Amino acid sequence: MKKLRLVTPGPMMAPPETLLELAKPVYHHRTPQARAVLAEAAAGLKEVCQTRADVVILTSSGTGALEAVVANVVQPGDTVIALSAGKFGERWVQLCRAFRAKTVVVEEPYGKAIPPARVAAALKEHPNAVAVLATLCETSTAVTHDIESIGRIVADSPAVLAVDGISGVGADECRTDAWHIDFLAGGSQKALMVPPGLAFLTVSAKGRQIVESRSDAAAYYFDLKKALRAAAESDTPFTPAHTLIAALVSSLRQILLDGMEAVWSRTRHMSRAVLAAIRALGLESLAERPAAGVTAIVAPNGIAADDWAKLLERKYGVKVASGQGTLKGKIIRVGHMGYLDALDVMGIVAALEWSLRELGFAVEPGAAASAASRVFSDAYR
Ligand SMILES: *Cc1c(COP(=O)(O)O)cnc(C)c1O
Repeated sequence: MKKLRLVTPGPMMAPPETLLELAKPVYHHRTPQARAVLAEAAAGLKEVCQTRADVVILTSSGTGALEAVVANVVQPGDTVIALSAGKFGERWVQLCRAFRAKTVVVEEPYGKAIPPARVAAALKEHPNAVAVLATLCETSTAVTHDIESIGRIVADSPAVLAVDGISGVGADECRTDAWHIDFLAGGSQKALMVPPGLAFLTVSAKGRQIVESRSDAAAYYFDLKKALRAAAESDTPFTPAHTLIAALVSSLRQILLDGMEAVWSRTRHMSRAVLAAIRALGLESLAERPAAGVTAIVAPNGIAADDWAKLLERKYGVKVASGQGTLKGKIIRVGHMGYLDALDVMGIVAALEWSLRELGFAVEPGAAASAASRVFSDAYR
């Protein structure tokens, strides 16, 4: 029997070359060998994020990078604008509250994207805001945000722009420098094709300036001043998960062999194929602006999304994610980023169709695969 196909939008599958790195003997982390690995990882991440800014690699899950931003940028009482249209936007809001910021929440319902004009309006109303916190791919709804436009707006203000790119980096097009992103947060376990355990953060010159100006930031482990100083020497303030960083280097080499344009394009085609397949089945996607790396599918009337997800796993070995928060029981989320290609997607859409028929939903046999195949066929011609 073929093992589980893990297509949850985090963690996602990792390639064998990457996993084999983790089978190697543990060595010491204060060595030229460890520094070389850290240096290559940082250089690779810069390429993936399209930036010449500083990069720090943190030993934590992705949320550690979000906390690092808030802890190092926000002082109690500061005004912060948090954009929230889903579970991960809400995480920014909760972080702001934990660090006692005066939080201005710009909110849209689940499934929608924050219109950039609303960011401009919020900055006009709160010219003293120190930061705007955004999300590239809002994984809970599979919406991708127009960070390019938001970046242009925030760049004209004194505020810094921090973007949660934990599921977006390596899937959705993202140009950190060209789009004026001051802090871009990522994690290892999504499109970067590494097991969970690493986070990273890019820090622009404008971002660094505000970090250096916060002399009493409420941070110790996540103190970015220390982390940036160490990173300049290809080092870390504390013991890094350096064996995971070696695995990251392996994945980055595989990603950069193709190049980011090819990776973004492949991921976008997988999204188009899944969207075409669900349309052919008479279903809808939840997202107003669908992300490249994940699709949220609204379960048809009369079918409980969680039953559908369970059947997909039990019978076809396809592990998808269910809805979070108010979307629980209403949607399933299929990841198609990182170590996944057109052939994997063809199998996944077929399984979506077979399982729906088995649950009693009337679909034309072959409709999903045929629609998806047409997308790839046109793309590969
Ligand atoms: C997965 C995810 C996170 C959470 O990351 P952890 O690694 O669980 O801390 C945060 N934001 C987004 C957008 C995500 O997709």
